[in-house]
Amino acid sequence: MAGVVATNETILVVGGGISGMTAALEAAECGKNVVLVEKNPSIGGRVSQLYKYFPKLCHPTCGMEINLRRIKANKRLRVMTLAEVEKIDGKAGDYSVSIRLKPRYVNENCTACGACGEAVSAEIDNPFNYKLNRMKAAYLPFTMAYPQRYVLDPSIIGTAEAEKAKGACKYSAIDLDAKEEVITLKVGAIVWATGWRPYDAAKIQPYGYDRYANVITSVEFERMMDPFGPTGGKLLRPSDGKEAKDVAFIQCAGSRDRNHLKHCSRICCMASLKQSTYVNEQFGDQAKSTIYYIDIRAIDRFEDFYQKVLANPTVKFVKSKVANITDDKANGDVILHGVDTEGYHRYDNRHDLCVLAIGMEPNVDARSIPGGVHADASGFIEADPANGAIFGAGCATNALDVNRAVQSATAASLRAIQVINKVSRAEV
Ligand SMILES: Cc1cc2nc3c(=O)[nH]c(=O)nc-3n(C[C@H](O)[C@H](O)[C@H](O)COP(=O)(O)OP(=O)(O)OC[C@H]3O[C@@H](n4cnc5c(N)ncnc54)[C@H](O)[C@@H]3O)c2cc1C
Ligand code: SF4
Ligand code: SF4
Repeated sequence: MAGVVATNETILVVGGGISGMTAALEAAECGKNVVLVEKNPSIGGRVSQLYKYFPKLCHPTCGMEINLRRIKANKRLRVMTLAEVEKIDGKAGDYSVSIRLKPRYVNENCTACGACGEAVSAEIDNPFNYKLNRMKAAYLPFTMAYPQRYVLDPSIIGTAEAEKAKGACKYSAIDLDAKEEVITLKVGAIVWATGWRPYDAAKIQPYGYDRYANVITSVEFERMMDPFGPTGGKLLRPSDGKEAKDVAFIQCAGSRDRNHLKHCSRICCMASLKQSTYVNEQFGDQAKSTIYYIDIRAIDRFEDFYQKVLANPTVKFVKSKVANITDDKANGDVILHGVDTEGYHRYDNRHDLCVLAIGMEPNVDARSIPGGVHADASGFIEADPANGAIFGAGCATNALDVNRAVQSATAASLRAIQVINKVSRAEV
């Protein structure tokens, strides 16, 4: 990695999700040199973990494939994975950025043949599937991962398992002596696109996510539907593998709550409306979805999607903030307790599975970004002239759907390009 050349006419993009990929591509396709750093072993971010996109219900792989093709074709764009920014010094047009690179232990000779994965027996939790299953400690992060290169988990380095992986590789692709390194890059502008993470569901104690196997989060539900996911694309409840035909969705799980996230996470109403269609996809008319909500927030063009789900006789809406959940120890059913605010009826409703429409919080709290940027009360980046040439993009700035994240990334890229143009005209 020491060979990366960057000058103050280079744009650094931090975070390789859909927003970071968009910002990097827009700038590189305008002729700017771009370095994209991603902390995971591959780019793609959380969109690559979704089963389908609302509102069109297409698979995210299509959009991802187009972006990857553009990235591979662009010589001005350099991608660094397992990379995190440690320090930012300097000012707009002249930053010096320290980046810590973790070893992958697999070099560019890798053909992704998979022989090392077959050779090792050690397993680790699979982060791509939100730890719902385990995988070999020599792995490809996911089918479409870019770079298409295996990774050795650090936990096996120095053990016989690592030697087994190395012994199985016919392409001299495994380097067990690889070491962590810190490099410094000169750049003129920075786009910060580190995205979001799901709120920790275990903190919402009355819902028992940490106690009941059949209470899961919306992000886990996405992985369960994926043919490459932990259940091979079948909606099976975790406690006993029974088909989950009767699914409850709890809205605002962790959002709009002074004890958790104060903000509305904006997309979780749409995510549950979308996920109710997954239940129909599996079980047709036998499916039963119940959405427990305070308000449904489906803005502008999403209203049509909401109306379609409202008209679906297998989907029921209950206007209520669920008070708490208990489980039936005899058969694993979850029982939701609360009061229906349309009529004020108490309910104790039994379901196969409960999905928490979990809130979104910033992956990196903007208050901790090296170099200093303005943040709102939730830790999202706020645009401010005092941020210099550090521009927030996508879900680092707010809870956004993909369309809005991409618009925000394009805007951030344009601002970064403007700074670089000034640098090249010696106006900064
Ligand atoms: C349950 C659920 C379903 C959803 N379904 C849809 C849908 O159907 N349609 C839709 O439009 N939207 C949907 N969304 C929203 C969608 O996931 C976001 O709009 C999208 O992920 C935003 O992309 P992003 O690049 O801003 O962030 P992310 O996808 O979070 O990407 C951020 C990237 O930055 C990397 N990163 C983080 N920290 C660092 C660091 N310190 N250094 C370097 N890299 C870092 C991460 O590893 C990641 O690759 C859904 C959200 C949820 C919760
Ligand atoms: S590291 Fe070697 S054995 Fe493993 S996938 Fe790559 S080429 Fe195959
Ligand atoms: S989008 Fe819907 S579920 Fe999510 S926080 Fe806002 S109102 Fe609640």
